Order: sequence, then C-alpha cells, then structure tokens
Amino acid sequence: MSQIAEQIRSSGIGDVLEGALRGERPDRDGCLRLLESDDVHLMGMAAGHLAAKRFGKKASFVNNIILNYTNVCVTDCKFCAFYRPPGGPGAYTLTLQEIEARVRTARESFGIRQVLIQGGHNPDLRIEYYEEAFRMMRERYPEVGVHGLSASEIDAIAGVEGTSTREVIGRLREAGLQSVPGAGAEILVDAVKREISPNKITSAQWLRIMREAHEAGLPASATMMYGHVESDRDVADHLCSIAALQERTGGFMAFIPWSFEPNNTPMQRENPSAAYGAGGGRLLKMIAVSRLCLDALIPHVQSSWLTNGVGMAQLALRYGADDFGGTLIGEEVVSCTGARSTELTDGRIIGAIERMGYAAEERDNFYNRVRIRGGAAAA
Ligand code: SF4
Repeated sequence: MSQIAEQIRSSGIGDVLEGALRGERPDRDGCLRLLESDDVHLMGMAAGHLAAKRFGKKASFVNNIILNYTNVCVTDCKFCAFYRPPGGPGAYTLTLQEIEARVRTARESFGIRQVLIQGGHNPDLRIEYYEEAFRMMRERYPEVGVHGLSASEIDAIAGVEGTSTREVIGRLREAGLQSVPGAGAEILVDAVKREISPNKITSAQWLRIMREAHEAGLPASATMMYGHVESDRDVADHLCSIAALQERTGGFMAFIPWSFEPNNTPMQRENPSAAYGAGGGRLLKMIAVSRLCLDALIPHVQSSWLTNGVGMAQLALRYGADDFGGTLIGEEVVSCTGARSTELTDGRIIGAIERMGYAAEERDNFYNRVRIRGGAAAA
C-alpha cells in the first residue's frame, strides 16, 4: 500500500476520504467529521485528486467587473461595511449612463466576459431600473454575460413592486439576466442569520428563490460566508442544504466558500470572537471539504482570492479548487473593509495559476472555455 493510502486509512476520517475518492458523497455526519478533523493536508490530497481527475492541471478564471450599482440599503447586515442608509452621507446609485460607461470601458480596456451585478436593498429602485440596465448590456455587449442580483436583492425588488419573487425573476430574465450569484446565503442556518443579518431573508427563502431561478432557466453560483459565529455543524447543514437543492434542480454551476472580512463592520465592533479573519488554514479546509462534499454534484469550486489573497488562492488549487473566479475590476464591497487587494488584472491571475504549474483557461459566464492563456497557449 502506498504511503498516502496508509495515511488515509489510519486517519480518523479514512472511511470518508476513501468513500469520496470512490465517488460517494459524504453525508452530513461524514461532512461534520471532516470539518472537525485536523487532517487538513490529507483532505487536501483527496480533494485535489478529485479536482485533478475532473479538470486535469488547468484552472479557469473570468475577465469581469463588479458593478456595485448602489450602496443604499435598509437591511443593516452586521457583517457589512459597504452599505449606507437612504440619504446618508456617501450614499450613491449609479445612473444607466454610468452603468453603460463602466461596461463599455471595461469591455474595451479588459475584454470582459461578465458583469457581476451586486448592490444594496435600495427601496427607491423600481424593477424598470434593472430591466433597462440588463437590456442595454445584452443589446450592446452580447458577448458579456449578465450575472446579477442575489436572492435577497430579488426578494427586495419583489417587496418594492408588491409582487412575487417568481414574477421578478421572470421579468429580469426576459430583460437579459443570464445567471444569479450566490450572495445572501451566508450560512443557511436561521440561528446564525438571526445573529449576523436579522433583517435579511431566511434560509428557506434563499433556497426557494434559488429554486425559482433554476426553474426559470437561470443557472447560479452557491456561496458560503464562513469565519464569524457559525459552528462546524452549521457549515455541515449549509453544505447539505445546497446539495439537496442541487439534487433537485441541477442549477448550481459553482460553489464559492469565502471568509468573512471583519474590518470596519458592526460585527467586529460588537463581537470580539469575530474580530479577526478566519485565516489560511480554515480556507484550505473549507475548499477541501467543499470539493469532497459536493464534487459529484457541483462541478466548480472557486479559490476565493478576494478575501484571502492570491497566495492562498494558489494553494487552494491544490486543495480542490479549480477556478480562480473573476478579475473583479471595480469591486467596492470588500474594499470597504480595507482588504489588501480587491481587483486583479488577467495577467496577474494567469501568472499566479501558471506558477502553480497549471494551464490558465479564460472562461465565460457559463464556465465555457474562451481560450487558454499564457505560456500554455503558445505551446
Ligand atoms: S450585505 Fe447587502 S443586504 Fe446586507 S447590509 Fe450590506 S448591502 Fe445591505
């Protein structure tokens, strides 16, 4: 028996890892045992093997911008340093002309393939604002994917319009929305949500809105924001809820675990145990557990460079991640926490991927290959 197989067998999680390597998805108990184990490197070996089996020595990324169209919000999440109350100092909402100018400049300067659209719950914005923006983007920049509005933003628009989230999703899809980001999930356990975002949609509402989006033909990403007040049991429940919905709809393209960035947030001031970021060890465990628990269901796991930096994202490729996410030009939400770097050029991502010995694949909004970039492209 090889040394690695022996190490796996003699660890406390050997049966879970061996099952995952045979293609058996860990159940909640298996998932919890992984989360409670300190054998992060063994998990990484198994998860890295699963990712390599699926994608080879290749990692993808998308050239994109984040359009944080408004910071006006009435939801007061305790983990958020970005929002401003309506009429408050520093509050802003982009006009359609400003949105068009940002997309045009980014397309011309960076050749973007995706606009990731995220903003606050602004009670003054009617659904026509979004419809006009999406129509403009699809008509003028058809090669740029419109990936926008979290489940909680969709719920907020439904509240403003006095209609159902299903109706909002239908209208936005008709106007040009092509896929939905996973933001707003945080941890899909209501006891956690009551503590970190008491005014936001519940776990059941997030899952229902995602199901409605999938059923309307809009694929999505699923996210998890960890590193605040959640327990390992909460993380296991979160992963199981995502897996259960995916089994039903197949609508998630990717899973993105990202760590809570505490600086300048109300939570940092109010809760000493959430004053510092979760750190690199926790990131690698989350990436590995995500791959091991979701591999058979959700193909892509993102390496989450935004809150952990490029160096950790490189390591994440060895722990089960296969996608670097986006260049995120124009990011304004995490920037408010003073995070080191919240946007990258494609050259920097390509270099980071290649230095890990992987080929860098530029992808589109739907994870289809645009082209291989960097040295491997010339080979
Ligand atoms: S996370 Fe989103 S919903 Fe919550 S306060 Fe910030 S902008 Fe508003």
